[in-house]
Order: sequence, then C-alpha cells, then structure tokens
Amino acid sequence: MNGRAAKRRRDLELRVMAAAVRAASPVLVEVKDDQEWWRVGPAVFNTPIIRDSYPPELKNALLARRDALFKGECPCGARWSMRRDERMQHVPACAASDQSLKRMASDAGVEAGEGPRED
Ligand SMILES: [Zn+2]
Repeated sequence: MNGRAAKRRRDLELRVMAAAVRAASPVLVEVKDDQEWWRVGPAVFNTPIIRDSYPPELKNALLARRDALFKGECPCGARWSMRRDERMQHVPACAASDQSLKRMASDAGVEAGEGPRED
C-alpha cells in the first residue's frame, strides 16, 4: 500500500470511529484523582471532575467542554477528528476554552492546576 492509500484508509478509519463516538452514549467508568474517565463507544476520554461546589458558570463551562469533546464539535466552531494527539481548539471567547476555564477557576478560587485535560 502506498502512502496516499494508507492515509486515505486511516482517514476513513478515523471518520468511522468519530461517527461511532457521536452515536454512542457516554458511560462514566472511573473517577480517579481530579479526573473522570468516560467510555464513549470505541473511545475513552478523561475530563475534569465537575464538583458541586463549583460556581454555576464554571460548572456550565466544564459541561459544555465535555459535551463538545463527546460530540467532536463545539458551537464555537472547534472540532476534532479523533486523532490521539489532537486537542479541540476553542476560540478564546468560548466558555469551554482553556482561557475561559482558567479565568473562571481562578475567579472562583478553584485549584485549576494545569487546567482541564483531555486525552
Ligand atoms: Zn468552544
């Protein structure tokens, strides 16, 4: 198989996997340290725990980020295609962006650490 055919095959596999993720219902499989581990169809994601003590703005933003991750797209236009090393690039004004979440966490006095992680 030449390089172009291999890339086409890999792109197709990623699209099929992304469709399976979008069609699946997320299942929380483990909570460890400050992360929740979710199985969504063929994929596993870790997302920050959303604590009851967080202010509503921060909780909603973390929920929006989780939702965007599971759907593969965000209303701000951020998308991802299931590549392992890819991160969703939310626009800075999006509530689910790294910048917004860090600001909200800081305003709330919540330990943000490195900020929300996704794998
Ligand atoms: Zn976004």
